[in-house]
Amino acid sequence: MAFEGLGGRLQDIMDRIKGKGKVTEQDIKEMMREVRLALLEADVNFKVVRQFIKDVSERANGADVMKSLTPGQQVIKIVQEELTSLMGGENSKINMSQKPPTVIMMVGLQGAGKTTTAGKLALLLRKSYNKKPMLIAGDIYRPAAIDQLETIGKQLDIPVYSMGDKERVETIVENGLKYARENHLDTVIIDTAGRLHIDEDLMNELKNVKEIAKPNEIMLVVDSMTGQDAVNVAESFNNLLDITGVTLTKLDGDTRGGAALSIRSVTEKPIKFIGVSEKMDGLEAFHPERMASRILGMGDILSIIEKAQMNVDLEDQAELEQKLKENTFTLDDFLAQMDQVKTLGPLDELIKMMPGANKIKGLDKVKMNGKEIDHVQAIIRSMTMEEREKPEKLNISRKRRIAAGSGRSLQEVNRLLKQFNEMKKMMKQFTNGKGKKKNPFGGM
Ligand code: GDP
Repeated sequence: MAFEGLGGRLQDIMDRIKGKGKVTEQDIKEMMREVRLALLEADVNFKVVRQFIKDVSERANGADVMKSLTPGQQVIKIVQEELTSLMGGENSKINMSQKPPTVIMMVGLQGAGKTTTAGKLALLLRKSYNKKPMLIAGDIYRPAAIDQLETIGKQLDIPVYSMGDKERVETIVENGLKYARENHLDTVIIDTAGRLHIDEDLMNELKNVKEIAKPNEIMLVVDSMTGQDAVNVAESFNNLLDITGVTLTKLDGDTRGGAALSIRSVTEKPIKFIGVSEKMDGLEAFHPERMASRILGMGDILSIIEKAQMNVDLEDQAELEQKLKENTFTLDDFLAQMDQVKTLGPLDELIKMMPGANKIKGLDKVKMNGKEIDHVQAIIRSMTMEEREKPEKLNISRKRRIAAGSGRSLQEVNRLLKQFNEMKKMMKQFTNGKGKKKNPFGGM
């Protein structure tokens, strides 16, 4: 997952200052030197780093911080707020047209994830915004792009307007828009040509498409794995096309995160979405505040809740919360939760969003897939009700019976019990502690 290196380093730095009852100018200076290095190593643009350090230092040296009873925490709060504002402050939504269709033009270099993101965005707009999207296959140069978009369209049951690769893209776009109007499709997403590098031909073609389509949104898709290059690409596209938003793809990879922290400052255009998997549901709205919390190890509970709310019954949710609070959450509840969780997406990604998750050694290597959930469920199903409620009763012969009954190994049974205990401990911390409050520094 992105930001692991940066997150780890910033958290270490913050941990050191957190408990301090007195923070001197010298402390801040030393801390900021380390923060600066951590950001530069995460490939954040050097100008952005310079400004960030200046802003944080000025605020941290302010009289209200120095006089505060918890200056260490105040400093961390400032870092979190400045990180948030660096990434744009608030979540920016798609520019919707008052008069349908809303036209979204996807632009970006080849391989950035433009075609994939076009499909993901169409799905998201239908699911969360109740829109009737259509895709236009306008990338007529990359040999497989049209087929790829048509396959995505079929998979998602979203219409794709294509005229093959022999027509001029301007004609395809004009006809596609006409088709959308006639068929009352209210959101049109145009996939355009990419190139390996920015060149004049590409830009002229994109300018023509812009002229014809009059898009409400010009969405630049950039690959976060390319670090500083992503920022340079964004700057060039913005200068030539005046983009309106950015989607940063492949944040599920081990990108250092520099692009996410630099693009907004360099282009003054917001990151609106992030790509978090190759799958069609792997596109999320970008929330700067949540991302800042995630980087600083405060977890991204809001995103988990948002995902969960799309799937979960509210009454069940209240009951679960109560159980967590009272610490009476049993293996049987866990079993039921897993059914819910299966609908949320890859479990390993969800776990990493929990507060403090990045402090757990080896978690980045955890890979959990649907099959493993099935195995865990099989193990729990082989337990009696009493055992599910009081797993401490499980002696070796019971464990053997469960292993045999579920067709799993004794090690797997032991591992599950250990993980369940760890999880309960973590949840206890979370429900008793800071995590529940919106402001993770509650009381300040
Ligand atoms: P285009 O040339 O810009 O249209 O790029 P594609 O849409 O064909 O994407 C290039 C590759 O990146 C494909 O293999 C995609 O599956 C992959 N990809 C796109 N977005 C993401 C993402 O958010 N995460 C991951 N892991 N892969 C992605």
